[in-house]
This record gives sequence, C-alpha cells and structure tokens, in this order.
Amino acid sequence: MSTNGLSDLDLQIASLSVHADDSYAIVSDVAPPLHVSTTYHYDSDPSKLKAAKDRDVSVKDEKTTFIYSRFGNPVMERVEAVLSAILNGHAVVYSSGLSAYTGALTYYNPKRLSIGDGYHGCHGVARIFTRLSSLEKVPLLDDSVSAGDLVHVETPINPTGLCLDLAKAVEFAHSRGAKILVDATFAPPPLQDPFEFDVDMVMHSATKYLGGHSDLLAGVLVTKDPKVRQALLQDRGLLGGAPGNFEAWLLLRSLRTFKMRVETQAKNAGKLVAWLDSALKNNEIPILTKVYHASLQTEEFVTKQMNTGLFSPTFSIEVASAEIAKSLPSRLKLFHHSTSLGGVESLIEWRAMTDTSVPESLLRLSIGVEDADDLIADLKAALLFFSA
Ligand SMILES: *Cc1c(COP(=O)(O)O)cnc(C)c1O
Repeated sequence: MSTNGLSDLDLQIASLSVHADDSYAIVSDVAPPLHVSTTYHYDSDPSKLKAAKDRDVSVKDEKTTFIYSRFGNPVMERVEAVLSAILNGHAVVYSSGLSAYTGALTYYNPKRLSIGDGYHGCHGVARIFTRLSSLEKVPLLDDSVSAGDLVHVETPINPTGLCLDLAKAVEFAHSRGAKILVDATFAPPPLQDPFEFDVDMVMHSATKYLGGHSDLLAGVLVTKDPKVRQALLQDRGLLGGAPGNFEAWLLLRSLRTFKMRVETQAKNAGKLVAWLDSALKNNEIPILTKVYHASLQTEEFVTKQMNTGLFSPTFSIEVASAEIAKSLPSRLKLFHHSTSLGGVESLIEWRAMTDTSVPESLLRLSIGVEDADDLIADLKAALLFFSA
C-alpha cells in the first residue's frame, strides 16, 4: 500500500505481516502498545479546529488524528495497515466475521443475494436483511441474477474445504452487472488471492486464521477501491462494527506470525488428508467412508486458484454412523472437540452440533501447528478403535 511507506520495497507477506504498520507507530516501542482510550485530545491550537459542519465526522482516516475510538484508534489503524498489505487491497476491520458480512450487505444493499451452501451464519445475516429490506435470497449463480445484485461465493467452502470455481462465478456475476463477494476465510494468503480473479470484495472471519489463537473475534472486508473503503468506514463508524481495542491488539500481535502458522497448518492438513485418503482407498479403516479436501479434487481450476501446492487446513471426513461421529472426538488426545477453526490447536467437531445442513456422520477437522505424525497417530488410534 502506498500509505505504509514500504511500497518501493516490494515486500512479501511474511515481511509485511511484521512491518506494514511500522510507519503508524506513535510511540517508539518496538512491540505495539495496547491503547485503551475511547477518546482523544483535540488539537491545542484553536486555529486547527474545525466545526463538525465543516468536516466529515463519521470517518477517521487522517493518519494519527483520533477523535473517538468507534471511528478509529491507533491499534485498529495498524491492524488495517497490515491486513491491507497482506490481503492485497484496502482493508476495513470489524468486531467479527459476521459484523464484516453485515457491513458488506449494508454497503451493497442488493435486491438479490445469490448464495450457495457454506457458513450457516452468513445465511442467518441474510435472513435478517430479508426481514429489514426487500432482499431476496436466491441460489448460487441463479438465472434471476441481474444488475444491482450480489453473488456470494465461499471458497474453499465450509465444512469440506472443497474449492468452487471463482473464474466461472466472476464471469457469471459481471456479465449480468452484479457484484461478487468472496468469503475466503478457509484459505487466507498465501493459499489463494481472490483478487487475481477480479472479485469485487473479499471477506475473512479474522477469528480464524488471521487471529489464529482461538482468543479473539474479528472480521475484515477488503476492496480494491479506496472510495468503497471510505464508505465502509463511514457505515462501520455509525453501526458500531469496530473491534474492541484489546481484540485489535491481539489481532495485530497474532498477525506477526501469520504466514508461518498458516503454512504449517496447511502442510499438516495435507499430510493428514494424504494419509486418510490412502487409508480409505486401501480399506485400512473400515469405518472411514469419505474424505473431503481440495487436495483430492481433480478439476483443472483448483490448482489455478490455489497455486501454492497447499490447501485449506480445514477439511471433513465421514464415518460409518452418526453414533461413531458423535463418539470419536472424545477418544482423541490432540484434538479438542470444539467448533471454530484456524487456531494453532487442532480441533475436531461433530458438525451436526452446530450445522443442520450436513450429514450426521460428518466430522470437521481444523488442523493446528502440532506435529503432523503425532496428529495422524492420534486419529488413527481412534478410527481403529471404532473399527474393531
Ligand atoms: C467463522 C466464519 C464466519 C463468521 O465469522 P465470525 O468471526 O465467527 O463472526 C464467516 N464465514 C466463515 C467461512 C467462517 O468460518
């Protein structure tokens, strides 16, 4: 980004995660301090003060002039500098992924939302909009989509980690004058960059990989257009969607190690899936019936879209019965039986606990940064226990 002072260096994600906010530091501390103030001194020089009627009070975008923290605060600004750099656009951070999604639907205010399977919470937000406005939910790539509508693609998709064809969806949306938003939560950089396919907006639940430690809620919208960012900031300031100071600080701290976490998690997941797939094909584990992951997809678009050789660290398996799916998590020692994903600790979830749209025999796994062979041994022992 031009505003971070590093634009002439052509830095990579790992460097940007540590340095993209350097020029935003307002104290000399190397580790960014946690600023908790909700309000800030006005300038002590009266000649610099402007009445509200002569300035835009709903936006704080002038570097290091803060007024009230719902509109902007020092840590949030640093987080956005890093997120803008690593997500390849202009980022706006929110108090959760669904708060970000609410920001996107509010901004686009579409007549139709064309949305497929995927994260149930986004469907819940869309249902609220159908109550508040004339928004109509229609299937993904539905023939009714036209100008002014919004196409929502989640890829890789919850809970399987399978990829949807972005180039095809973008061509569909734009040929009809619609906008396209991608929920890219399951594959943050460097695993994929939806902007390479000319999408209009990218969303992440930063609670997941960007946060990465299962200890903060946050979300982010990314746009290529600075004017759109400005409009999003304005709405966020009024709707109160900004993250709390502490969460923003935790997120900034977490972003420093972002790339090494995601790469380790994706490599570990690749090893687990390869082992599960071969166990399935060789019939080594009678109760294992299905393995879902983009690394097992054969369509040509998949490796164009995710071209690092790594895929989402989250995927799903199916086992022989709902009863086994319900009981298996309790036998694992290195996986917590919990919902959510993206953290450094591996999780497994009997997905029927939170999602009514999946088979009851499905287990979703979010792979952490533990040793892959240890995770495989743990999973193998439990799967064989139920096969005996
Ligand atoms: C978790 C998640 C969300 C919602 O994010 P929150 O931070 O929980 O509000 C949206 N989309 C996907 C794909 C998710 O996994």
